[in-house]
Amino acid sequence: MSNLPTIAWIGLGIMGSPMSENLIKAGYSVTGFTLERDKLDRLAAAGGTAAGSIAEAVRDADVIVTMVPASPQVEAIAYGENGILAHARSGALLIDMSSITPQTSVDLAKNAAEKGIRVLDAPVSGGEAGAVEAVLSIMVGGEQADFDEAKPLLDALGKTIVLCGPHGSGQTVKAANQLIVAVNIQACAEAVVFLEKSGVDLAAALDVLNGGLAGSTVLTRKKDNFLNRDFKPGFRIDLHHKDMGIVTDAARDVGAALPVGAIVAQLVASLRAQGDGGLDHSALLRSVERLSGTEV
Ligand code: NAD
Repeated sequence: MSNLPTIAWIGLGIMGSPMSENLIKAGYSVTGFTLERDKLDRLAAAGGTAAGSIAEAVRDADVIVTMVPASPQVEAIAYGENGILAHARSGALLIDMSSITPQTSVDLAKNAAEKGIRVLDAPVSGGEAGAVEAVLSIMVGGEQADFDEAKPLLDALGKTIVLCGPHGSGQTVKAANQLIVAVNIQACAEAVVFLEKSGVDLAAALDVLNGGLAGSTVLTRKKDNFLNRDFKPGFRIDLHHKDMGIVTDAARDVGAALPVGAIVAQLVASLRAQGDGGLDHSALLRSVERLSGTEV
């Protein structure tokens, strides 16, 4: 019998499926719930247990991990009649790894504490590949003792795991992460269009650029998307639109100006309005191509 904590995992999407499978590989017993039947089958095939509801998944869990799209879904699964706070046992630790507003995380920690449930916000960066390879960066907000308890589990999911401060701090750092990533993708997309219109060999150019100061994890991870115009997600434009809203609002609240971030937020919104919300965020290239008169 393993003495590792038992895990409930809610939200088995692009990120949640490989992450929960990494916990199973590390020896944890994982019971999961998500909305798609095929994702539950995938969890069972990987050695986990598919639950019929959130209540069933969380009832006996020591640790509950949530990985759903945005604040409304986190609130629904936490506060709903059949949700986590109504059915988890007192003393359980809830680790929300979704990217949501810092205020939602602060409120969740407060409301959960009334039920004896401890909470960490622990959003991640590294994309689908980082999830599969268990090399995510994990930015955590909450109490030191809860972080220490969660650390071995988080070590099975990521490589850089940092307690950033009190509840909501992980989300604030994640919002900054999304600002940097979006601006970086936009700059790469502009460079791609400029290079192609100039008649330079794009693959050669991106290789040498990535070896110098212009290099980045974004360029490493998204180079093939740009070269092959392959915009299968990955990280959906719809989700980056949500994140640009979070960072823009949070920055306004604290009086920080984000002039370049604001423009890129508009470009993400425009891409979405043109029907590209389901594509990977590297599809920002399509928007630069449209602006440059290239057929897309
Ligand atoms: P996704 O849409 O692929 O998966 C979300 C999952 O949540 C789905 O499987 C869905 O069934 C489940 N879900 C939604 N509502 C639910 C409910 N009421 N009950 C149970 N399950 C529910 O999204 P994703 O790409 O895995 O992203 C998840 C979170 O991680 C988001 O906050 C996103 O911003 C963040 N994130 C994503 C990436 C990425 O590259 N995809 C990278 C870092 C962070």
